Amino acid sequence: MSRLYRTEGIVMHRREQGDADRVLTLCTPQGKLLVMAKGARKLRSRKAGHIELFTRANFVISHVPNYWDIISQAEMIAPHAVLRSDLLRGAYARYVIEMLDRFFTEGEGERALFDLLNHTLSWLCEDDDLDLAARFYEQHLLGLAGFRPEIFRCVGQHDEIVSIRPLAEGDGTANQQAYGFDPEHGGALCPDCYEQEKRGPAVVAISPYGLRFLQKCQQGPYTQLRTQAIAPALHTEVERVMQHYITYHLEQGIQSAVFLRQLRQATMPLPPSGVHYVG
Ligand SMILES: [Zn+2]
Repeated sequence: MSRLYRTEGIVMHRREQGDADRVLTLCTPQGKLLVMAKGARKLRSRKAGHIELFTRANFVISHVPNYWDIISQAEMIAPHAVLRSDLLRGAYARYVIEMLDRFFTEGEGERALFDLLNHTLSWLCEDDDLDLAARFYEQHLLGLAGFRPEIFRCVGQHDEIVSIRPLAEGDGTANQQAYGFDPEHGGALCPDCYEQEKRGPAVVAISPYGLRFLQKCQQGPYTQLRTQAIAPALHTEVERVMQHYITYHLEQGIQSAVFLRQLRQATMPLPPSGVHYVG
């Protein structure tokens, strides 16, 4: 006899199975779960909405030994509909889902991971600064996966606190000593160690602004960060450094991050005519 259980879940993936069914990947507070939605492709649209991509819902699931567990009821809590209608927001959502997929396999996960994904999808629906949501998410997902970058102490020759001098007013990059980021040793290098290690193949530079921004992402809370305006150049720098770190540890890049960059370039507004930017 089948056993019923209840769980909240967020639909991470949907794929067709046979003529009428779908297999869903759910992120639940107990971990990542594959379940079958019987007859889902024939459901009328009102019902089908409960199991749309990115939707958060309450599920009643029937456990079936040696088969997929089967959804017997689904009741939507949050549709996250804009992630399906807005191409750019949807691309960010696909990025955060792919990252979770790459660091957690089926059965892995916990309440904190579910909460992080749930909050991040809500921010991607509502907020203006989608890069901030992505960067905050990365730091916390890496932490839950056991890959939290060490950015408060130097990972170089001396185990010391990375003290970032008060930043002068300026354009954010000029006249600042470079710190390093070393994925192999798991985090930040002070300027002295960066000077010695920078020929290492995996070491990249990071500005004090970039490092401070990453520290704030780790410290949180997001509600405080979201009130601050982050310069586009800072986002570009920190995204590059984090993609380098993530790619190093996965031994492969995240595909949806490449798509996201292409999409942003394609949709970036052109500068007003007559305005010239000095390189
Ligand atoms: Zn050092």
